[in-house]
Amino acid sequence: MWSNLILQEIFWGINSFGEMLDATGASRGILTNRLDWLQQIGCLKKVVGADARKPIYRMTKKSIDLYNQALMALVWERQYYSEPELDSIELKHTLCGHAFWPEMVCSHCNQQAQWQDVTFKPGPGAGRDEREIKTRRRASKTLQGDNNGKALYRNLTELLGDRWTSNLIALAYHGFVRYEEFHKELPVATNILADRLKLLVDHGIFYKKPYRPSVLRYEYHLTPKGADLFPYFMSMLQWGDRWCGNGEGPPIIAIHGCGHELNAVVRCDHCEQALKANEVTYER
Ligand SMILES: [Zn+2]
Ligand SMILES: [Zn+2]
Repeated sequence: MWSNLILQEIFWGINSFGEMLDATGASRGILTNRLDWLQQIGCLKKVVGADARKPIYRMTKKSIDLYNQALMALVWERQYYSEPELDSIELKHTLCGHAFWPEMVCSHCNQQAQWQDVTFKPGPGAGRDEREIKTRRRASKTLQGDNNGKALYRNLTELLGDRWTSNLIALAYHGFVRYEEFHKELPVATNILADRLKLLVDHGIFYKKPYRPSVLRYEYHLTPKGADLFPYFMSMLQWGDRWCGNGEGPPIIAIHGCGHELNAVVRCDHCEQALKANEVTYER
């Protein structure tokens, strides 16, 4: 979660340790640790600026390529949460000169890429989740009240910064709805699974639907709010294929409703051209 917040701030122009400390609400120890890790995995580089005592952090090709994901996070956050700082943002596309809103479409048919229109099939790099079951992870908690951060899509980051909530939503996109199905697929302890499902219901991502009312069992279905996270997940999937593959090809292939493999592009809703990080300005 902290790594996401850090990258998010750097995307929007904050790049020194002191500014990040203030913007993310992280402690010095956590911030140092995550900045080191982001450098190790090639997502940040430290450079010495005009003031040698204050190095600044710059994005790399690998992290700049997360730009679509940042835009999709912004779209979702603004759709479902109202915060003055977020509501006042205006994105401008320098290519066409207009204020715009980003949208994700299929590069083949130019129609929106929505969860409802997508199916999946295993790709050449498909494999099982080999993680060991971790039973001693601490319970989830939300960060509100823990700090004074002012990130733009803090709700999304808090929700998805936990790996299990991300995994559960991803599985929901594949049609998983029952506790047993999630449990069979993920190496997660039962108490943590129950906790994260409840968290997702509490945040309006899943809704509970009784399927055997006599014994009160529930399925977990995506709400519209949960379904609308799909473009964010899709951009993450495509980023993973580009930067985190094992050389065997994508583990999973998404098929769009038009019948073609989904190559999702994030474009300007005004001129319909694909967006690039250096062609977008933003005012807060
Ligand atoms: Zn299509
Ligand atoms: Zn444009």
